[in-house]
Amino acid sequence: MQSMTAPQAIRTTCPYCGVGCGVLATVAESGEVKVSGDPLHPANFGRLCSKGAALAETLGSEGRLLHPVVDGAQVTWETALDRVADGFNKVIAEHGRNAVAFYVSGQLLTEDYYVANKLMKGFIGSANIDTNSRLCMSTAVAAHKRAFGADAVPVCYEDVEAADLVVIVGSNYAWAHPVLYQRLVAAKKSRPDMRVVVVDPRRTATCDIADLHLAIAPGSDAYLFNGLLHHLRREDALDLAYVEQHVEGFAAAFEAARAVDSIPAVAQACGVPETDVGEFFRLFARTERCVTIFSQGVNQSSSGVDKANSIINVHLATGRIGRPGMGPFSVTGQPNAMGGREVGGLANQLAAHLDFSDAASVDLVRRFWDAPNIAQDPGLKAVDMFQAIADGKIKAVWIMGTNPVVSMPDADRVRAALMGCELVVVSDCAQQTDTTACADILLPAAGWGEKDGAVTNSERRISRQRSFQPAAGEARPDWWIITQVAQRMGFAAAFAYTRPAQIFREHARLSGFENPGKRAFDISALADLDDTHYETLQPLQWPFNERSPNGTQRLLVDGRFYTPNGKARMTAIAPRLPAVATDADFPLVLNTGRIRDQWHTMTRTGKVPRLNAHQFEPFVQVHAQDAEACRLQDGGLARLSSRHGSMLARVQLSQDQRIGSVFAPMHWSETYAKSSRVDSLVAPITDPISGQPESKHTPVRVEPYLPAWQGFVLSRNRLELSGAGYCACSQGDGYWRHELAGDMLPEDWRAWARASQAGAGEWMEFHDAAMGRYRAARVQDGRLESVFFIAADHRLPEREWLGSLFAKRDLSTAELAGLLSARPPKGEASETGRIVCACFSVGEKSLVNAIKTQGLTSVEEVGAHLKAGTGCGSCVPEIRRLISKATI
Ligand code: SF4
Repeated sequence: MQSMTAPQAIRTTCPYCGVGCGVLATVAESGEVKVSGDPLHPANFGRLCSKGAALAETLGSEGRLLHPVVDGAQVTWETALDRVADGFNKVIAEHGRNAVAFYVSGQLLTEDYYVANKLMKGFIGSANIDTNSRLCMSTAVAAHKRAFGADAVPVCYEDVEAADLVVIVGSNYAWAHPVLYQRLVAAKKSRPDMRVVVVDPRRTATCDIADLHLAIAPGSDAYLFNGLLHHLRREDALDLAYVEQHVEGFAAAFEAARAVDSIPAVAQACGVPETDVGEFFRLFARTERCVTIFSQGVNQSSSGVDKANSIINVHLATGRIGRPGMGPFSVTGQPNAMGGREVGGLANQLAAHLDFSDAASVDLVRRFWDAPNIAQDPGLKAVDMFQAIADGKIKAVWIMGTNPVVSMPDADRVRAALMGCELVVVSDCAQQTDTTACADILLPAAGWGEKDGAVTNSERRISRQRSFQPAAGEARPDWWIITQVAQRMGFAAAFAYTRPAQIFREHARLSGFENPGKRAFDISALADLDDTHYETLQPLQWPFNERSPNGTQRLLVDGRFYTPNGKARMTAIAPRLPAVATDADFPLVLNTGRIRDQWHTMTRTGKVPRLNAHQFEPFVQVHAQDAEACRLQDGGLARLSSRHGSMLARVQLSQDQRIGSVFAPMHWSETYAKSSRVDSLVAPITDPISGQPESKHTPVRVEPYLPAWQGFVLSRNRLELSGAGYCACSQGDGYWRHELAGDMLPEDWRAWARASQAGAGEWMEFHDAAMGRYRAARVQDGRLESVFFIAADHRLPEREWLGSLFAKRDLSTAELAGLLSARPPKGEASETGRIVCACFSVGEKSLVNAIKTQGLTSVEEVGAHLKAGTGCGSCVPEIRRLISKATI
């Protein structure tokens, strides 16, 4: 822990996505924290995206879980830890070791993950520990193991820049991995001959730099890559010498690919024009330096492992792997998804890239841990784990740093399962999440900037997260909480750690234990790292051992794989379409995903007004043709229903949607929006190998939701507003925004508004019962406290000027006069509109206005005038679109 007063930059790592950007955090004497990109970190070289740049604004104790809580009452740590240990021991004694489970997170640091896994698998003796990375990249892990014999990501970030062709499959790379995308943008700019192909049913911001976008039918990826394999052979574009020497399974894989043996057949199977398929195949055939990036669009599928292997197949068949600028590249979603894979955080893994497939591996870990009761078999994967909780087979569960009531498929059932579970322990930074609401015991975990440990990014690079401020309240690091429980459960000797460096050393030792090069993950060169060296550890890529004393930029360079015979395995792929097809009742395909400025279930990014300003409500994007068929209006509300649940969302018409598909983000929880958890619709259908859910393909029905009233309320504090079936809350600058709708009209609007808040002040009101309009404002000592706007439908005034009034100490007479009409006094306010550039808070209206009045025709010109797009760059695709729309 550094001095609180020294204005010295602490080198740490961003806690959001798998890019793993280096961050400099500077703490001023006043305690104010400033954050910037670390220019020396090889993942980002100083860049940060909008989320990373706003990290300092997420700090502070607001919304934090500050004390241990048992059955709703604050208790001491001693009491809480005893209760957890006793509760788990009791369930184990009565029902056996498989009656307990841990559900952990890619947000945990490697040291936290290591001890959680060691406790469950090594000492409790069950493998019922799974991680939310199951929902994110377990498919890629399974595909790597099937092809390479190990979960070995061969590629590094520089390969993406060095490639002549970058194929991006099922990834909105621009928003989900923004800094990597910006590196690609810069590379393409400096080498204009570089080609980018995006394969995605949806036209996303990533297509901004695409030379070709293949908007394939949802789930048809394996047809495309099987077809490509066939095409490459026909065009004599395979590296048969490489295949002969380093690959097995080619004949069977090729035979399976024959099913789509022509460009027209592929085009038909994928629902895209033949010319586009032909262009992609020709580009791939003639471009040796090719990286294929894949992510959730491939992974979150009932045939995800096959899809990933169909991608890997074409790289193996062309020998485009293990060399600069080439290879299949699975980019991970979470900051430490890769670290979780290293320690064995998935229920089917054991530890250190060993699994349960052979007794020798189990025996190796048993001896290393001195753990006679070690688990012998894989545990339950996430979906099965929550089903076992629902069935009463698992009676005690400890959820660490994640929010499954929002993020798991069939989320309503997950909540019901937890509500019915005998013992639910949740350790988290956030006090109020949909999952903490189900907990019997709450344990406050230290957050980013308060804890020390390691994370591994998508290119196998281990970086340190370092603390730079004291923990909020009584929060403690996860590794400490877990080891304290382990000690109380009777395993004191094996969990006698006093600092994370000890855990890291043990983890490093295990990676090299009896590992003469057979296991890819090996950081044994760090096994004797002293505490000082641990503190100053520089980012490095594994393997890091005697054979690779400087770390390893690229894997599989010598054509030797981690299989028994050293050869890679091509897999015969029989493409399968998604498990459940659309039908007359549920005719549209729901695709779920991320948006630009939010992270996971918004427990941190939801605290930052400028990150909420880009999209402040749950929404569903629909193609105009589908909207017409479903009678949906742009800006109106819609109800989405599947066989598993329903949700409400604001309709956004978008030509970017494939006809027949709709998109809704995964971020909104009950905490931020009533009735808008998208995962309550998603079926708990999983890939048979990886267990990863099919989150990209849920048949749904979308209907207009026509409530009796709609409205919005802006107020200094968050309000409980009765009678609103739909209520989306977001934090603005100095106020809370509530977007509302309800089926029942209150008897008296006046009483309704006044019941929502205590406090003195003067009320101004307007009521037109015939038109269904009610407007009110409360002003106290010249300051605006709240405004209420109710209407019969969604046609309501702009919120922007009203929101800006919360920053004023005294409202002028003219401002007071304009309150209930939501009209600013003449000349006082120029509207900026919905925020497009989060870095410099530049809104859509300002942009369109400048583009039109100044005649701006390029992103560079817009940047020069308004600075928009010159920060992290994530808004550039949107600015480019505004330019082309305004100049049509
Ligand atoms: Fe953080 Fe990812 Fe953004 Fe980098 S790209 S700053 S790791 S969220």
